[in-house]
Amino acid sequence: MYYESTRNSTLKITSAEAIVQGISPDGGLFVPDGIPELSLSEISAFGKLSYPETAEKVFSLYLTDFSADEIKSCVESAYCSGSFETENVDELKTLRQGLNILELWHGPTCAFKDMALQILPHLLTTSVRKTGTDKKVCVLVATSGDTGKAALEGFKDAKGTSILVFYPENGVSAMQKLQMITQDGSNVGVCAIKGNFDDAQTGVKKIFTDPSIGAKLSENGIMFSSANSINWGRLAPQIVYYVAAYAKLVAQGEISLGEKLNVVVPTGNFGNILAAYYAKRMGVPVGKLICASNSNNVLTDFLRTGVYDRNRRFYTTISPSMDILVSSNLERLLYHLSGGDSEYIAGLFAELSSKGRFEVSEEIKKSLRELFWADFCTDDETKAAIASTYDRYGYTVDTHTGVAVGVYKKYTDETGNQTCTVIASTASPYKFPDAVLSALGASCGSGDEFEKADVLCKKSGLPIPKALSELKSKKPRFTGSVERGDMLGYVYETLGIK
Ligand SMILES: *Cc1c(COP(=O)(O)O)cnc(C)c1O
Repeated sequence: MYYESTRNSTLKITSAEAIVQGISPDGGLFVPDGIPELSLSEISAFGKLSYPETAEKVFSLYLTDFSADEIKSCVESAYCSGSFETENVDELKTLRQGLNILELWHGPTCAFKDMALQILPHLLTTSVRKTGTDKKVCVLVATSGDTGKAALEGFKDAKGTSILVFYPENGVSAMQKLQMITQDGSNVGVCAIKGNFDDAQTGVKKIFTDPSIGAKLSENGIMFSSANSINWGRLAPQIVYYVAAYAKLVAQGEISLGEKLNVVVPTGNFGNILAAYYAKRMGVPVGKLICASNSNNVLTDFLRTGVYDRNRRFYTTISPSMDILVSSNLERLLYHLSGGDSEYIAGLFAELSSKGRFEVSEEIKKSLRELFWADFCTDDETKAAIASTYDRYGYTVDTHTGVAVGVYKKYTDETGNQTCTVIASTASPYKFPDAVLSALGASCGSGDEFEKADVLCKKSGLPIPKALSELKSKKPRFTGSVERGDMLGYVYETLGIK
């Protein structure tokens, strides 16, 4: 299997090269040149495997230039080293018949990003070795809160790498900020920027694709790579849990083999839901892909109308990891739906960058309507969904999963559809204790994040993740912030480049 750029399909490279480069020099994203297929009996056989075993099988289909031993070693380092707090890497909970929650947040940073970022450093260092470069890799990250910490945990002290994270100064939760500024490791840097997530992402993309910056790094024996979900090494691991969840539901007798499963995904950069799309294309019987947004509902409008328009107000919400107006991974979906027409895709995204808007063809609009259903929740609606989930099932969800629960209700109210459903649960409620407590009508007073966690613990009955309670004794290391335009200066300074 080869990987091609969404903006230049004649460029063909191996998965190792795609993972090392992160983003294509033409600004496009790397996608596989074909999507591997699984038969129903192969999928059902996964029901007897552990998560790491299923991961090995799925990776072997996408990373065809990796040896079986290389894949096994990456998978085991990520998922068998004790960094996940629960017995299963992915925990599937049934709220009621036909409604399941896929808890993806039992990793070291308590968000689903760990599912991919615990393995990405291993995929990346293996890829670097395979491509024969002798350069050190500097991983640049723009984060809306969860990616940054998950990437820092994955890459800290990883040989031959360094990692620099930019986050929006006022755009992350107090707990998320604390997680990042107390990060340990000798190869890490964290910096706040005066702007929002899109500013951070645009800044990082610019630094990545500027040839003169690349040349300067190269002179210093360094190359950039990306840990954002534009990197194929982030996306491939996310496909695994949709395949595994379907197999598990069949094994548990929740659904029969071949029966459709709807998937609800709280969506920001479109990575997680795109992974569910790939699982569907591989043969997993996924029904509707239900895209749940917060008030930054650019995707709701797009999936309904075919018009992507980022010229709108940006909202800071209680689900900060979804406060995004430019959803990078949409480009991959549109590439596949256009039949791999890279000229067409390059045109759309040129329009997006010049006018902030594009409209897709009638044919693509039709595919979007068939594949997706989309809606959004305001903060009040999200809080109401958190409260009603607690009241009905005694189950506490975080603010992002709350958006998904609220949109799922809108879907069933509007369509009456009762297809068996899995909701992707993307973070521990302990990462957003203020908003969750307020949704549950519990007063959290003026205490610090840890006192709030104690209140939430009494209310929810969920154990406080060790990774969060340990933060209490850690000292902040990274307190600086820069203007949007000074991101490159910070990079050069931290890397010791003049
Ligand atoms: C990143 C994140 C999302 C959004 O996922 P995308 O892949 O960017 O769509 C949702 N919830 C949480 C908790 C996240 O950290």
